[in-house]
Amino acid sequence: MVFESLADKLQQTFKKLRGRGKLSESDVAEALKEVRMALLEADVNFKVVKDLIAKIKERAVGQEVLESLTPAQHVIKIVNEELTQLMGGTQSRIAIASRPPTVIMLVGLQGAGKTTTAGKLAHLLKRQGKRPLMVAADIYRPAAIKQLEVLGEKLEIPVFTLGQENPVYIAQKAVDQALMMARDIVIIDTAGRLHINEELMNELKSIKQTVKPHEILLVVDAMTGQDAVNVAETFNNDLGIDGIILTKLDGDARGGAALSIKAVTGQPIKFAGMGEKLDALEPFHPDRMASRILGMGDVLSLIEKAESAINLEKAQEMQKKLRKEEFTLDDFLEQIEQVRKLGPLDQILGMLPGMGKLKQLQGLDFDDKEVKHIIAIIRSMTAKERRDPSIINGSRRKRIAIGSGTRVQDVNRLLKQFGEAKKMMKRIQEMQKSGKKSGFKL
Ligand code: GDP
Repeated sequence: MVFESLADKLQQTFKKLRGRGKLSESDVAEALKEVRMALLEADVNFKVVKDLIAKIKERAVGQEVLESLTPAQHVIKIVNEELTQLMGGTQSRIAIASRPPTVIMLVGLQGAGKTTTAGKLAHLLKRQGKRPLMVAADIYRPAAIKQLEVLGEKLEIPVFTLGQENPVYIAQKAVDQALMMARDIVIIDTAGRLHINEELMNELKSIKQTVKPHEILLVVDAMTGQDAVNVAETFNNDLGIDGIILTKLDGDARGGAALSIKAVTGQPIKFAGMGEKLDALEPFHPDRMASRILGMGDVLSLIEKAESAINLEKAQEMQKKLRKEEFTLDDFLEQIEQVRKLGPLDQILGMLPGMGKLKQLQGLDFDDKEVKHIIAIIRSMTAKERRDPSIINGSRRKRIAIGSGTRVQDVNRLLKQFGEAKKMMKRIQEMQKSGKKSGFKL
């Protein structure tokens, strides 16, 4: 996950600060020196770091902070607020035209993830009730048209193509077509190049002049760090853009691009690409990103993710079963699968406050492989066994292990875990019933 190393360093710095009790001006200065180093190591633009630290310092060495009862918390709060401001303050949405269709033009260099992002964005908007049309105007990269068509088929979203025709003409015709088909969003996948050149810019400018897009979004690859920032600056100066989509934030990019791009170009990040899958595009929230970096978690994004991935009716049904103590291994399996829809476990944990670190603890292996084992084991059981695990004797255990490609110990462990989970649920239920706050803590 992006920012991991930056997050680690900042959290260490603040941990030291918290241990201090009262803070002196030099304690704060020392901590800010470490923050500065951590940001520079994360490849944040030098000038951006300098300005940021100056702002934090100005606010953090005031009497109010130093004399407060929780000075370290105060300092962290200030850093959090300034990081949020740095990334644009509040979420920047795309402008939806009052008279449809809204035309969105995606631009960027080859390999940044433009075509994939066209599909992801169309998918996201479709889920919000829009009717997108994707347009294949990248006529130079071999296979770009086909790639978009395949995405369209998968997502059941129409794709407009005219083969190798002039891209300006394609874009213009696509908007006409959208009007005819009553599609309210047009997403144009334009051509990229390996490097910025005049030919590319001229082509993009012609498309811009002809179709007058409501949004020109630049797709840049977070892994390229300050190069991404430079690319954004050039596109903004030469073509004019309305926002940025930063891709590959799921990788191990150091985070410099995400933290510098708004400050350098003046243009906000509107979406973040978090993986290769088609649902891995998230609206970019500066405040949540800052909290994630500071280890305060991103509970809001997690809730939103859960809401879109988890079937509410199913969840309520599950609760009922729990209450009646009818929870079986089938239900257990279903729950695991629902949680898995949220994404890889380590990513989910990274969004929870204080949990970012947990997965590094020894002995705690939140490996997806283990979850796959659990699923395979439960699937190898008969319906009767899943309903009543108490009948699973030695020979059944052996059969299940062979059937799931695991070992008998693995089957034993799962049964034990399930038994314990049930016991714990029962205790929670009893606590809720009696309304007493016993010593048992969740
Ligand atoms: P284009 O040349 O800009 O159209 O780039 P593509 O859309 O073909 O993407 C290039 C590569 O980047 C593909 O392998 C994509 O799967 C991958 N990619 C795009 N976005 C993301 C992302 O957010 N995360 C990851 N991990 N990979 C991505």
